[in-house]
Amino acid sequence: MNQETSIVGALESKQPTISIEFFPPKTEEGARQILKTAGALQPYGISFASVTYGAGGSTRERTVEYGKLLQQLFHYRVVPHLTCVGHSRTEMAATVDGLVAAGFSGVMALRGDPPHGDTVFRPAEDGLAHASELVALIRERHGRKLAIGVAGYPCKHPEAPDADTDLRWLAHKVNQGADFITTQLFFDNTVYFSFVARCRAVGITVPILPGILPLLSLEQARKFTGTTGAGALPPALEAKLGACGDDALAAREAGVEWAFDQVRELLEGGAPGFHLYILNRAKSALALFTKLREAGLTENKAPV
Ligand SMILES: Cc1cc2nc3c(=O)[nH]c(=O)nc-3n(C[C@H](O)[C@H](O)[C@H](O)COP(=O)(O)OP(=O)(O)OC[C@H]3O[C@@H](n4cnc5c(N)ncnc54)[C@H](O)[C@@H]3O)c2cc1C
Repeated sequence: MNQETSIVGALESKQPTISIEFFPPKTEEGARQILKTAGALQPYGISFASVTYGAGGSTRERTVEYGKLLQQLFHYRVVPHLTCVGHSRTEMAATVDGLVAAGFSGVMALRGDPPHGDTVFRPAEDGLAHASELVALIRERHGRKLAIGVAGYPCKHPEAPDADTDLRWLAHKVNQGADFITTQLFFDNTVYFSFVARCRAVGITVPILPGILPLLSLEQARKFTGTTGAGALPPALEAKLGACGDDALAAREAGVEWAFDQVRELLEGGAPGFHLYILNRAKSALALFTKLREAGLTENKAPV
């Protein structure tokens, strides 16, 4: 593990920050898989592990339960995600108090998506309307006890009328006390570099961790680019995955190669590290970490 004791310390250290994202499983098989993956990746210098919060607030208990397991069994620094969906301000405050009491290192403060089929987010009665309000609530109650991460969208949040408006709200969210931004996944690094430049131009100075997903198939690539606001699929990536046909192993290797090239260019271009969407699977992440180590890319951040 990165030797720094806190997430902010890890973000400021000379080593690249590596975070990995788990989701709380629903089945026994899923439970076995997350623990196996967590154990397999633990020796790879992970700065922190985050655990997602189900749509509609559906996994509140399991997010915390698996976060605690990752802390206790594997000594990860853990950052549970938390959304405002369906909770009043009082409930949000109690949940945040619980995260501090459980000894978590940080929290990913999110608004959450509107329920399936709705295009407009409606806060719960007496609830929070934006992630920025959650950031403010956490800082108000607990000072700097928790590191706070917030979401950033290099290709613009789907609900935002335009990129500049979205950026203005992102700056507001950070100003409420966020320590870092993790981006939505993307496959074309130019969108990250231009996003960082635009963030810096409006005075956002916190580290911006690029979100990387090692793809497993062309079908998966199309699903993610269609639904998550990940931006267009670069033609070269489409061709690379397309050339693998039905060969799942070849497609996984192609996904790792693309992710490796992305991470190498990002780190060399001054990214402070990267956030890996691992979908609770170990194989692609292990292959990627091994390649990064062999290339000496996990030792020192590039000067910016
Ligand atoms: C790294 C990452 C992790 C995620 N993890 C989860 C998860 O675990 N669970 C989950 O359900 N979802 C998760 N999401 C998805 C996220 O919840 C959705 O994208 C959601 O629609 C927006 O959340 P937000 O925190 O970015 O919201 P906000 O920052 O509140 O922004 C939402 C929209 O409102 C606008 N806005 C912000 N503030 C204001 C304001 N004061 N006035 C007017 N407009 C404003 C923004 O421009 C944007 O269009 C994640 C996303 C990312 C990138």
